[in-house]
Amino acid sequence: MSENKSRMTLREAFAATRRGYSILWKAMPKIFPVSLAKNALTALSPYVPLYFTARLVNAVAGGGGGGEAWPLLAALLLSTALAGAAQAAASCRAQVIDNGYAFPARCRLHVDKMLRMDFQDADDPKTLALLNQIMEDENWASWGLWKLKDAFSRLVEAVLRIAGALALSASLFTLPVPQGSPLAALNSPWCLPAMLALMAGAVGLSALCYSRAQTFWSAIDGSFFNRAFNALCAHAQFNRSASADIRVYAQDKFLFQKAADPALDGFGPNSAIGRASRGPRGLLTAASEGVVRAYSGAVYLFVGLKALGGAFGVGAIAQYVGALAGLSKGAADLLSVLSDLRENAQFLLPVFQLLDIPNRMYQGSLTTEKRADRNYEIEFRDVSFRYPNTDAWALRHVSMKFKVGGRLAVVGENGSGKTTFIKLLCRLYDPTEGVILLNGIDIRKYRYGDYLALFSVVFQDFKLLSQPLGKNVAASEDYDRARAEQCLVKAGFGARLEQLPEGLDTFLYRDFDEGGVEISGGEAQKIALARVLYQDAPFIVLDEPTAALDPEAEAEVYTKFNDIVEDKTAVYISHRLSSCRFCDEIAVFDGGRVVQQGTHDSLLEAQGKYRSLWEAQAQYYQKRRQAREADME
Ligand code: ADP
Repeated sequence: MSENKSRMTLREAFAATRRGYSILWKAMPKIFPVSLAKNALTALSPYVPLYFTARLVNAVAGGGGGGEAWPLLAALLLSTALAGAAQAAASCRAQVIDNGYAFPARCRLHVDKMLRMDFQDADDPKTLALLNQIMEDENWASWGLWKLKDAFSRLVEAVLRIAGALALSASLFTLPVPQGSPLAALNSPWCLPAMLALMAGAVGLSALCYSRAQTFWSAIDGSFFNRAFNALCAHAQFNRSASADIRVYAQDKFLFQKAADPALDGFGPNSAIGRASRGPRGLLTAASEGVVRAYSGAVYLFVGLKALGGAFGVGAIAQYVGALAGLSKGAADLLSVLSDLRENAQFLLPVFQLLDIPNRMYQGSLTTEKRADRNYEIEFRDVSFRYPNTDAWALRHVSMKFKVGGRLAVVGENGSGKTTFIKLLCRLYDPTEGVILLNGIDIRKYRYGDYLALFSVVFQDFKLLSQPLGKNVAASEDYDRARAEQCLVKAGFGARLEQLPEGLDTFLYRDFDEGGVEISGGEAQKIALARVLYQDAPFIVLDEPTAALDPEAEAEVYTKFNDIVEDKTAVYISHRLSSCRFCDEIAVFDGGRVVQQGTHDSLLEAQGKYRSLWEAQAQYYQKRRQAREADME
């Protein structure tokens, strides 16, 4: 990040900001008109009472009686009330747009990209690091795209504040002090450029001090401190699974001590920013404000002298002083927002880097016509695969044909390539060498969505949502209730379903609903199976989803599943060989290769990897059983 910071020229910063705005415009167009209206009213509404007050004071001071003053008073009251009401209404609307529209749109920007990019990029630790950096920059001081939204509001406000001030103060320079007055020198045409030069000097100096003061702020690696805070305090607050540990080990004291450690405290009195605030940062901030106030003093003097000389009535004094104060505030705001935009440009680069990750995976156009006979045949033909940026082969020369409607078990030790095999089957990755065929045609030639729809998968670390049970099963907001119920019953969840107070509408977990239910690993498993059944895809894949269950419960799940997959083609990955006995075919993976293939009995007879795995597991379970029995005695 700091490298980008030093190299970014003004032109690059401008181009990055322009691109950032065009992304924001496409992602959340509604924020612009709302922000324009709100900030225009904020900038201009203070000038309305200023204008009418000046006229009213002139009318009263001029001694013209109530004739002129009353309508002016009415106009003052009405316009002030209307401007205030309009400003409040626009602020209210802007708040709703911010919370209800812009915030979700901002989250969607990243989520959409992550979900749409090739899986291999989404799965790449570098992409996750990039996303993390973007989120940390945003959390730290809204750096990145979010800053542009805020800057737009500030820009509108500053520009309109300046425009309003110029309109109200123009006559200050055109109304002359009557000739003969000792103050007639103030009619000099040099007064306007002199006042403007004074203002430019004051605002420029103030902005310089402000941006110098800001550098102390942006020099801190705020994302580091946010990360430290998350790792320590937020961990204790929000991480449910950690809370038991924290109590048992009384980790709270330790965590709070750590959080107060000066090395991890980025913003407290003893931090670098804390010390700088007592020293140069504090002085620069004070100077930035002081210079502007000194300029205001000069303005008061000029306006007061012209009024004394008789150039305008006493009412106009308030108008000019107010307008010129608005002018300098607008100019200072403009400079500060421009300096923030310049600073922000470097934080846009990681956002662009993420959004620019191209989709390289070839997407064909063939449709996988929906076949009533489910006669989909898949073949791996001499497939080898290396993960991106690695040298080792995760799969090597794998050739295999799936029997339609058959049950294939994939077994092997950890790291032997089983999950990689499934990732290739579901086209999350493409083979490095070789080809995978669906009904004789390279799977890359099919439409990606069509091909994916052929599979229902229960991944190792599947997740259910904190949503009603039925919606979890259907993975959708609208669904066929009868079918969801049927699938749950088939998956062995029928008895539990009957006990649930709200049936299919019962929330899983309690994040959104106090009446939600906490479910066990085995129950979650059954719901995940019901979800697979609801999808009714011709291929079903179970990737060791039963790792958390004991062997008996796992065997029950697999046996049940075997009964209910009916005519679908099923692939099971299991580390427990006994669970796969019912399969028509077992493929044994070792070091990325398929070293054996056959039925359970034929593989046991052969003196190979399967048999040695089987014997090792049999011994392991026997020892565990003995240990359990010894414990119980
Ligand atoms: P299994 O499912 O049999 O445990 P995997 O298919 O997960 O095995 O892993 C096969 C090999 O590929 C292992 O050496 C593993 O370290 C490697 N591997 C798995 N995932 C990745 C990844 N995302 N990036 C790089 N290497 C990986």
